[in-house]
Amino acid sequence: MTIEHITSRQILDSRGRPTLETTVTLDTGVSGTAAVPSGASTGSHEAFELRDQSPKHYGGLGVHKAIDHVTGPIAKATKGFDVRQQRGLDSLLVELDGTVNKSKLGANALLSVSLAVSRAAAALQRQPLYRWIQQVYELPAVTANALPRPMMNVLNGGRHADTELKIQEFLIMPTGQTAAGQIERGALVYRALAELLTAKHLRTTVGDEGGFAPALTEPTVAFDFVIKAITAAGYQTPDDIEFGLDIAASEWYNASTERYDLAPNPAGLSSEGVAGLLEEWLRQYPLTLIEDPLAEDDWVGWQLITAKLGSRLTLVGDDLFTTNPDRLERGLDSHVANAVVIKPNQAGTLTEAVDTAVKARAARYALVVGNRSGETNDPFIVDLAVALGAEYLKAGAPARGERVAKYNRLLAIADELGQ
Ligand code: PGA
Ligand code: ZN
Repeated sequence: MTIEHITSRQILDSRGRPTLETTVTLDTGVSGTAAVPSGASTGSHEAFELRDQSPKHYGGLGVHKAIDHVTGPIAKATKGFDVRQQRGLDSLLVELDGTVNKSKLGANALLSVSLAVSRAAAALQRQPLYRWIQQVYELPAVTANALPRPMMNVLNGGRHADTELKIQEFLIMPTGQTAAGQIERGALVYRALAELLTAKHLRTTVGDEGGFAPALTEPTVAFDFVIKAITAAGYQTPDDIEFGLDIAASEWYNASTERYDLAPNPAGLSSEGVAGLLEEWLRQYPLTLIEDPLAEDDWVGWQLITAKLGSRLTLVGDDLFTTNPDRLERGLDSHVANAVVIKPNQAGTLTEAVDTAVKARAARYALVVGNRSGETNDPFIVDLAVALGAEYLKAGAPARGERVAKYNRLLAIADELGQ
């Protein structure tokens, strides 16, 4: 039951950039492996992703230093540790690093060990990962009728595409009784969207999360395409499929002018201006969810937008909270947002990600467990979403191997639970 040795290797993520895959082997010979994803529109309050900065190797993006930290100080300090004590193990990792943002050993190094340990423990207990996570953190029981709904990113813009479209993600959230039915709806809308774009001579090449990245500029034109695709596939919104956005507004915020470079005003929009634009969109489009409508440190703007739109919309904080319990606490105290994205690599250990989610849940905030734009085929976040009883699993388009790995894992869990 105790850690015997830890190995770690450099692998590629879905953008062709290096990341770590770590294996924890126990004295019994049982092992667990996990890979770490990587973002592009990262929040500045995320835990620190350590890269080699050596230009000779992958343009500085190598992760050999992080690997050395895993196989050196981390392996040494955790040897003999009982893997069933996940919380204790994660505390040890945090102490070993000793910095606020995990910049000494690297959050990517720490997380790879934290996740691999939980996989090894699940294997040791002969339990599916989601059940082990639920048990070790004493979360409510997992049931077939409380599985997360897919949140699919069918059209990509912002930092995830090389187009003029500023909004990063156009999201569809299929409803329905089963994961299989929801995923089918999403996949059919995705195909219908391809046909509509082709019919208008727009390209169906894809962005980083597998959604199409046509050369559009106007957000409302993109809205029309998605809404038409939902209708063309034979569904209605919001009853069959909900429609949402991730604006990732931090990417368009100028802190010195306090303005957002989001159309239509060339001088930029104030926070109030963005709120007004969203209200306009809400009058015309059946939007039910918006992630990061404002920048990560625009707390005053967030407060205003939550007061204005929070009763009509799921307002999700991603770069705002960065899966950080202290930032979430501040949000709860000041009535900001009503939902949170949980991404383990923003936090740096499984325990911190779970603790943030539990805190959000206690305040009745909705939970979105999310992927990164740079992913691997590791579907860890799916088991986490199921264990947390999250409302949504946000895992990109229903296309590309690293994205469908997540939806396929959800299908397998749904089967296992007899759905
Ligand atoms: P990222 O984008 O992984 O590039 O940060 C995902 C998101 O903003 O939700
Ligand atoms: Zn986001």
